[in-house]
Amino acid sequence: MPTLLPALKKLLAFPSALVQRPRVRIAPSPTGLLHLGTARTALFNFLFAKRYGGTFVLRIEDTDIERSKPEFERDIAEQLRWLGISWDEGIETGGAFGPYRQSERLPIYERYLQPLLEHDRAYFCFCSEETLAAQRETQRTSGEIQRYSGACQSLAPKEARQRAAREKRAIVRLRMPEEHFAFEDLVRGEIAFDTVLFGDIALAKLDGKRFFPLYNFAVAVDDAEMRITHVLRGDDHIANTPKQMIIARLLGLSSPQYAHFSMILAQDRSKLSKRHGATSVRELREAGYFPETIVNFLALLGWNPGTDQELFTLQELIDAFTLDGIQSGGAIWNQDKLEWFNRQWLGAPARRWLTHDALTPELEKKIVAVLAGNRWHVRKETIATLAATVLERAPLANVEELLAGEYRYFFEKPRLDRELLRWKDMADEDVERALDSAKEILEPIPEGEWTQNRLERDLMAAAESLSVSGEKPDRGRLLWPVRVALSGKKQSPGPFDIAAIIGKEETLARIQEAQNIIVRPK
Ligand code: GLU
Repeated sequence: MPTLLPALKKLLAFPSALVQRPRVRIAPSPTGLLHLGTARTALFNFLFAKRYGGTFVLRIEDTDIERSKPEFERDIAEQLRWLGISWDEGIETGGAFGPYRQSERLPIYERYLQPLLEHDRAYFCFCSEETLAAQRETQRTSGEIQRYSGACQSLAPKEARQRAAREKRAIVRLRMPEEHFAFEDLVRGEIAFDTVLFGDIALAKLDGKRFFPLYNFAVAVDDAEMRITHVLRGDDHIANTPKQMIIARLLGLSSPQYAHFSMILAQDRSKLSKRHGATSVRELREAGYFPETIVNFLALLGWNPGTDQELFTLQELIDAFTLDGIQSGGAIWNQDKLEWFNRQWLGAPARRWLTHDALTPELEKKIVAVLAGNRWHVRKETIATLAATVLERAPLANVEELLAGEYRYFFEKPRLDRELLRWKDMADEDVERALDSAKEILEPIPEGEWTQNRLERDLMAAAESLSVSGEKPDRGRLLWPVRVALSGKKQSPGPFDIAAIIGKEETLARIQEAQNIIVRPK
């Protein structure tokens, strides 16, 4: 029987039509740009809510007044929208359980705080910041657990209340019940704690006449007030969960169910930080990654669909998502995988990135900057094709370097190597003839029809028929010399791709140049 219980609980945690619809939330603090870890937490919560017909709430934890900034709140909302992660309730959209900014909910927290003080479940503490810091330092150096010493624990409640009214500065602490506390994590199973180790945690700060809630207290109140059923968040919050559950219990409130997944870690298994590269959605966006790439990549960082499928649209993720697939093990950042996803999304069936409208403004800006820096010009209409051609073959992270290096033949005439123009055992005359027929095919194509598709169609047809009769057709006899004439390189995108980007006049000029080299005496 005892073994059945976790299984039963797990079953109940996956709401179906029979069980209540989930209400989940993220509660980011607007103290920085939307972090990639927060974006992934948002994504998992969003997928869970959508999968089971539930509600996803965006609540802002801005009680740290000094560090919270409106521009960061705007960034959080903007990047989530850009990723396609919309919320049903929360800031901007509103809802039945608002306000959704903690700074606007101070009277609600006070309403919950007063009874705790009245029943002596919580008490005023007047220890100064310096005293507390010194205490922590002593505990740290002597290897003890860092927690409040309890100096103000036994102040007479009445006097303490009067002193708080007089001094207008105090911390409200919870008398932490001493017990063995365990909860059932939906990803990790039972997690147990000895609450003695927590000490009397701070619930709120009295500053002037108002109480400002602190993290664990505000979360316990908000999750209950907003009828949150499931909290899915990073495992850096595991130790907060018993605190939030105990606070809720003492307030007579119910607690949601919890699932903690691994935080995103860098390759060296340390916390993802600036020294590893991008940490925010905005940075990836500005580097030119597509929203589809980021969503797909983040979803598979710590979640496993249980099949071999790797490419997922947001809708496909919703359809496939279950908490079962969440892994408790490390979610390690893999830059190569991110690049791989970006190339996949670039080459998606609709090839929407090949149209100018769909080129991300960030990527376009990057390309234009490289062009301007080198005094290069390409027609505006071809920038999207250029981006797609390069990105199909190379990581986005290096796009500037590649355009200015490996791919500079898109902007500058290449230096031609006479021998490289030759395909297999072709004689000089064969090469010359191949270049001649390329010119014949290309010259009549009007500027207006000079597109990759048209060029590919015409050149391919000629390449098939240009083989020596009786032999197996060898397209290389035409395509190789033309491609090398355009790029100067042993390896490059196809001649159609390059010709489409550099334009008719430049294409014909480069073919002519290659012919000059061939006929020039050695
Ligand atoms: N502000 C917290 C964070 O962004 C919220 C944690 C929670 O989900 O309770 O990490």
